[in-house]
Amino acid sequence: MANFPQPNFLKYESARQIADAFGTPVFVYDQATLEAAAKDVLNFPNAFGLTARYAMKASPNAAILKLFNKLGLWIDASSGFEVRRAIAAGIEPHKISLSTQELPDDFAELYELGIEINACSLNQLERFAKVFPGREIGLRFNPGAGSGGNNRTNVGGTSSSFGIWHEWIDQVKAIVASADLKAVRIHTHIGSGSDPSVWQKVSAMSLELVRQFPDVTRLNLGGGYKVARMANEDGTDLQECGAPVADKFREFAEETGREIHLEVEPGTYLLANACAVLASVQDVVSTGPDGYEFLKLDMGMTEVLRPSIYGAQHPIAILQAEPALEGKDYMIAGHCCESGDILTPAPGDPELLSTRSLPLAKIGDLCVIDGAGAYCASMSTKHYNSFPEAPEVLIDTAGQAHLIRRRQQPEDIWANEVSLP
Ligand SMILES: *Cc1c(COP(=O)(O)O)cnc(C)c1O
Repeated sequence: MANFPQPNFLKYESARQIADAFGTPVFVYDQATLEAAAKDVLNFPNAFGLTARYAMKASPNAAILKLFNKLGLWIDASSGFEVRRAIAAGIEPHKISLSTQELPDDFAELYELGIEINACSLNQLERFAKVFPGREIGLRFNPGAGSGGNNRTNVGGTSSSFGIWHEWIDQVKAIVASADLKAVRIHTHIGSGSDPSVWQKVSAMSLELVRQFPDVTRLNLGGGYKVARMANEDGTDLQECGAPVADKFREFAEETGREIHLEVEPGTYLLANACAVLASVQDVVSTGPDGYEFLKLDMGMTEVLRPSIYGAQHPIAILQAEPALEGKDYMIAGHCCESGDILTPAPGDPELLSTRSLPLAKIGDLCVIDGAGAYCASMSTKHYNSFPEAPEVLIDTAGQAHLIRRRQQPEDIWANEVSLP
């Protein structure tokens, strides 16, 4: 019998029960995996203290925010609305830091509630300075290098608009001085990946920025720790990556007398492999001897968009009561009327197609898309073709499945429309 892929944490029996209870497609989170990842992050090597934040844009369900909060993670929010959402979930404002592309109109109100703000552009810094002279602010810099997976995930270097370009440091100092601001944090999120030498370089570059601002007590190195979703991908060993960072902080302290507190804020690392989309095969079609065999699922870019925009690879498994002995190479298609709705693009190239070797499948079989915890439920073409938002379920450490988001009612999709007289 061929060695077909098996899901990370779902088995046929548990998957069947969840599908029967909640329907498909459904996001299924595994609490044990979430807790293990949180523990790793909270153990990140550091010299003078650590604050670990969860970059909530990866998956902002309140149940996940609360779970991480209970474990000791604080929050990185990427918009004013994420701040509101975290507060609504019960997160105390002083645990929330906002680093955003769009400083919201109500930033002053959020700041007065107690959140921290990292200015991510000169304009943001000026707006803050006008309202809050003399107060504490963080500065997000683009230190001039990046290491994201590709052009669309790179968040450092000249082609990225995130953060204040490092060469504008004199302008930053001028604004800080003119409003008597206290710049207490430096923030650099460039997607440091899994290579310890990149970490070393990034922490050295970031500490040079810290050196320029005498009030800074904290350095936030952001997130971006690569996770192996597929067996052939490289994951990050946080101990290995963090050790040289802690060394750099110690060297800096010896040299300057300043003991800098470290912050990290992963999203992907905490979530990626802790969730799967459980779907059903709803059609099987062929395009002939020179074409492909397609499995069409009852989910697609409405739940998992990453393959369509990055050529991202997600493990895919078919679950059957009696596992098939024979296999076939299948292309996996989503349910949207959009040719880009493909779950099996060529690795790293959404323009090209690829196939997966899976057991001979039939309509009604369960299909598991793994590695779907980060940037799936939170980042999809929600409501395209008027498909309702899929439910989310959390399997607790005793193996019990709990609904943490209901399946959306179709009427809710058009609830905000206003009919003309
Ligand atoms: C998105 C984001 C993160 C998390 O990135 P991951 O790649 O998911 O770890 C951290 N910090 C900031 C400022 C972000 O925008």
